[in-house]
Amino acid sequence: MPQHRFATLAVHAGQKPDPATGAIMTPVYQTSTYVQESPGRHKGHEYARVSNPTRAALEANLAALEGAAHGIVFASGVAAADAILKVLGPGRHILASNDLYGGNYRLFQEVYGPFGIESYFVDMTDLETVQQAITPSTALLWLETPTNPLVRVVDIRALSDLAHSFGVDVVVDNTFASPYLQRPLELGADLVLHSTTKYLGGHSDVIGGALCTDRDDWNEALRFQVKSAGAVPGPMDCFLILRGTKTLHLRMERHCANARRIAAFLDTHPKVGCVNYPGLESSPGYVLATRQMRDYGGMVSFCLKNDDMDSAMCVLGGTRLFALAESLGGVESLISHPASMTHASIPRAERMKVGLSDTLIRLSVGVEDIDDLVEDLQRALDVV
Ligand SMILES: *Cc1c(COP(=O)(O)O)cnc(C)c1O
Repeated sequence: MPQHRFATLAVHAGQKPDPATGAIMTPVYQTSTYVQESPGRHKGHEYARVSNPTRAALEANLAALEGAAHGIVFASGVAAADAILKVLGPGRHILASNDLYGGNYRLFQEVYGPFGIESYFVDMTDLETVQQAITPSTALLWLETPTNPLVRVVDIRALSDLAHSFGVDVVVDNTFASPYLQRPLELGADLVLHSTTKYLGGHSDVIGGALCTDRDDWNEALRFQVKSAGAVPGPMDCFLILRGTKTLHLRMERHCANARRIAAFLDTHPKVGCVNYPGLESSPGYVLATRQMRDYGGMVSFCLKNDDMDSAMCVLGGTRLFALAESLGGVESLISHPASMTHASIPRAERMKVGLSDTLIRLSVGVEDIDDLVEDLQRALDVV
């Protein structure tokens, strides 16, 4: 395909009419194996742990959206992260954001720590600290931006340049931004990770993960992991994510527009103490986010002036449209309590150090009518 723009790629990249029937949508190839004409002679697929046409279409689509040479999909976002750690091997260390998705923190510390992959956590907004934390054993810089749940922004280009000057590779977890808002490989990253469960799938009906890279060595090593360890998504899951990516650009525009309105509403609300959203001009990440991202995303977190647990619980239980649930990036709005939900696997002392308080409230702003969403929050705040 000639070099098309994002929205066209979202709809078309990696997909062509089914060669057997002309079906315009890539079918769900629900098969475990493929008939060979003679031993070793086949139409490109042998066994579905290694490859499947529905999966291949999704991989090509995601690679196009990230502007990458290679896309590799997994059964979940953490399975994608797990594959990267297995490629690293023992004795090699990870330097990660101290404001990290809780599941990745648990994977690093509790699953891979005992296998000799150590991880260290630093404030990635402070380049000097990052440089001082790099040692000869550091193999990987693990960035998340915007971060979860504090919605902080880190400089992908500056950190990639720094890491590369020490021979360290860079992974960016791009789940919060999606490729529509931010393309880390163009900013120097070596690998992009997605939980496709979130914005890429977009409808809260599937779990999946993906890695994109331009690096042939990483691609080969990761595909070897897929074949050998087998954390592959089923064809129906791939189909659902592929259906989601077709409207990614449309959904993201509404997520961003709605989140901007919600952030502005909270920012001026007398009962709200702090608002974390990089699209607020007063936000420490505003200038960088404006340079690095197309828009500011659909995630907002906040705390109350009355910063006690009862008040926070009152808001968390007081919304009707915003559903109290983990996860993010779906069409419906969600409200959550990171300290007891998504980030419960991070020890309290570690959470407090980075400013993730017990009373922080996180919103995944959906694509509903913005006036209904604002009214819902208004009502919940009224009773505090
Ligand atoms: C959800 C999430 C993950 C993990 O993905 P799963 O699909 O739940 O395994 C990783 N990183 C971020 C930022 C996430 O939000």
